[in-house]
Amino acid sequence: MSLILHGARIRPRRSDHADAVLVVHDRITAVGTTADVIAAAPAGARRLDLAGRVLTPGLQDAHAHFFQMGVISRRASLAECRSLEDFRDGVARALRERPGPEPLFLESWDETAWDRPLVPTRELMDGLSADRPILARRICGHLAVVNTPGLALIRDLWPGGGIDADTGHLIEEPCLHLDVLLLPTAEEAQRAFDEADRMALSLGVTTSCDFLRPSALRRWGERINAGAERVRVNAFLLGECFEEPELLEIGSERFVIRGLKIWSDGTIGGRTAAVREDWHDRPGERGGMLVDPAAMTAAVAKAHGEGWAVAIHAIGDRAIDHALDSFAALPRGESRSRGHRIEHAEMVGPDQWTRMRDLGVRPCVQPNFLQWANPGGLYEVALGRRRLEAMNPFRSLLAAGCQPFFGSDGMPPSPAFGLRHAVEHPVEAERLTGDEALRLYTEAAAAGVPGHPVTGRIAPGEIADLAVFEDEPHRLPYPGSALLTILDGVVVHQGEGLERSASSC
Ligand SMILES: [Zn+2]
Repeated sequence: MSLILHGARIRPRRSDHADAVLVVHDRITAVGTTADVIAAAPAGARRLDLAGRVLTPGLQDAHAHFFQMGVISRRASLAECRSLEDFRDGVARALRERPGPEPLFLESWDETAWDRPLVPTRELMDGLSADRPILARRICGHLAVVNTPGLALIRDLWPGGGIDADTGHLIEEPCLHLDVLLLPTAEEAQRAFDEADRMALSLGVTTSCDFLRPSALRRWGERINAGAERVRVNAFLLGECFEEPELLEIGSERFVIRGLKIWSDGTIGGRTAAVREDWHDRPGERGGMLVDPAAMTAAVAKAHGEGWAVAIHAIGDRAIDHALDSFAALPRGESRSRGHRIEHAEMVGPDQWTRMRDLGVRPCVQPNFLQWANPGGLYEVALGRRRLEAMNPFRSLLAAGCQPFFGSDGMPPSPAFGLRHAVEHPVEAERLTGDEALRLYTEAAAAGVPGHPVTGRIAPGEIADLAVFEDEPHRLPYPGSALLTILDGVVVHQGEGLERSASSC
């Protein structure tokens, strides 16, 4: 099959004023002016006039929880709540709309967006149901609140700490394990994958990412055995997966295991990130490491020795120090080609970005996290103004040669939402242009995963993963849906607004 996309604004901008692309089978075979590309096309090629719409490489969400995104989207969401009363109403509504004895699992509340930031407790949850287990997870994924039956359920399943029976809070470890403790059935899992594919493709995302424990990795194995995987996924595995060698064989052309994921600290919302100085609103507290730094260094060395990339979640400046120490112990000069990376790196400072560049470790950053950087918002409350203004320094990272790249972390999964935040960064000196930001969601994201077959560039010979948008992605209204998404040369999503004006030439 051959397809000519013409009359396009190609982004990121090109110096050659090309406005058309020829796709033959799974490849881009020509890029140029409409006249040149039509002349180069084989007889019978279909033509689609984009009439000035924006054509981009397929977006690459370099930090996403693909399977979880599908699972979560099938659960009741509390993301729209704006008060504790809304939260209570939202849980009550879900209880009515989703009756049954099985645990009710709700997602994505964020008290920092409420009129008063009151964290819900077990007492409130008990007022909603005294017999059906209810679990409501915060948007960060590191904190959940349960009612008394929910508490009993989790205590049966989770032998470790991190459970505050008084408040009904599951903090860090038990919360991070909830998807494993309450793993969807094989059938539910396939529906969740379908939904994750649909969501990603509707946003123009053709490459995504997943972070997996053994149980969810097995669900991926079932998906691949059924030949049903669609969006390309680069996977990073939690340490326990490496104890089961047969799990490491799971893979396909679209789903590739890249390496090890280490969770080194928590989050700013939970005040569990490891920071150098006290929290602004909690004097005497500095969060903490979730792993022993020496054990992390040993794990990094082992994974590196076995040929894996290592992705370390490090949000606080102290956690970033430890992550860099671990990478510094590796043989010099091997990190960049291996694809070692620091996830989030929100509080990265000048001393650290210099080290990061010299070590060849790339930061995978989340522009959408700037949603919490507004005056008086979560970051300012937790860290104060001075540290707030030093966070997420995208232009500095780019200028220092650290090769940053973007991912959404699913909060929300929309790349367009993050692109807008990168362009409108609250610190003017750290703003990116639309094209620079888009590169971090395409070409730079591809470079962050050495060996990934899609380079995120629109050029002859490249795999035809493409997306069409009504306007520049950073200017789109939320959620920034694509009009057309092409994966491996095949149209896999067509939204409203782009009539099938295809004709043959
Ligand atoms: Zn994440």
